[in-house]
Amino acid sequence: MTETYDITIIGGGPAGMFAAFYAGMHNAKTQLVESLAELGGQVNALYPEKTILDVAGFPAVSGRELIANQRRQLDQFPLTIKTGQAVTNVAATDDGFTITTAAGTTQTKAVIIAVGNGAFTPRKLNVANAADFEGQHLFYSARDLDHFRGHDVMVAGGGDAAIDQALMLEKVAKSVTLLHRRDQFRGLAHMVDLLRASTVTVQTPYLIRDLQATADDRLDVTLKQVGSQDDMTHATVDDLVVSYGFTADHHALDAWDVDLAEDHRLIAVDSTMATSVPGIYAIGDGVMYPGKQPLIATGYGEAPVAVRSIMTRYFPDRRGPVHSTSLSDQH
Ligand SMILES: Cc1cc2nc3c(=O)[nH]c(=O)nc-3n(C[C@H](O)[C@H](O)[C@H](O)COP(=O)(O)OP(=O)(O)OC[C@H]3O[C@@H](n4cnc5c(N)ncnc54)[C@H](O)[C@@H]3O)c2cc1C
Repeated sequence: MTETYDITIIGGGPAGMFAAFYAGMHNAKTQLVESLAELGGQVNALYPEKTILDVAGFPAVSGRELIANQRRQLDQFPLTIKTGQAVTNVAATDDGFTITTAAGTTQTKAVIIAVGNGAFTPRKLNVANAADFEGQHLFYSARDLDHFRGHDVMVAGGGDAAIDQALMLEKVAKSVTLLHRRDQFRGLAHMVDLLRASTVTVQTPYLIRDLQATADDRLDVTLKQVGSQDDMTHATVDDLVVSYGFTADHHALDAWDVDLAEDHRLIAVDSTMATSVPGIYAIGDGVMYPGKQPLIATGYGEAPVAVRSIMTRYFPDRRGPVHSTSLSDQH
């Protein structure tokens, strides 16, 4: 039987996460659907180590810490959180909407779109047979650290995320090599200092040209030194983690059955965060209205407005007023 939700939130960035928390406060049966393997949107994917200075109540907080705190806030409620699932269609029904992902369809009374700049996917390694090794020896993020325990691991990339993955893997792997196509890293100076002080071997400037399986089920990585005419060199590792950043698909919503009015190529919303389609609301970086600022704090403000609008219109018995002080006995 298809699961039916009161509210479906599409996009698990800071705005979508806060909307899910707020929906939880209103006892709304809520699913939060995120295309990436982890929640946190741009903050987690693009700048986890950056110190953010403009979130109310936090004089300084790293992107990672902010998202971890949001996750703890979310976990107070029995919400359904689906990661690694892009919403590929939203279609109107007689009583709400059908939400489609690769995992199937669900029903929902109302929708909050919080997709930011579009569905993120890791930028893939441009080597012909890369897909053959994905999930076995080739990864786009080192999530399950246990997999890498005692392994020789190569990390490819030059940004904060690549350095971060290398340092994380250093704790469990037998050896870690960080490969970058330039001599200079793009990562924050502080991250580069941590890298230099670590046991991670830095190999620059190199590009990956080919992957082959070895007879003993390891990975032979063919490397080309940038700017040299030399023959290729080889490295044998257990795993390769490619951290080349993300691409955002701005056009994913065009394929949905529902047709949302736009403003400057973003979703047009009114002051209640309602879109042009009744029952669909939108918040965060993906929306436009006069005076809109694409900031974390703005999304945090829009989330309660959208949830309250939905509760008032579709679930008036649960519309509140709700203050967080009613959440627990501790307050
Ligand atoms: C380098 C950088 C530094 C920044 N620094 C600051 C700062 O200091 N302070 C500040 O306030 N703001 C900063 N910002 C802006 C801030 O990150 C954004 O305003 C904020 O992330 C917007 O949150 P969001 O939830 O609207 O969207 P996002 O963070 O973009 O999250 C949207 C999520 O939706 C998911 N998604 C998209 N499409 C689908 C789909 N079809 N199905 C399922 N999931 C989907 C995406 O994968 C993504 O995880 C910075 C941005 C960048 C790039």
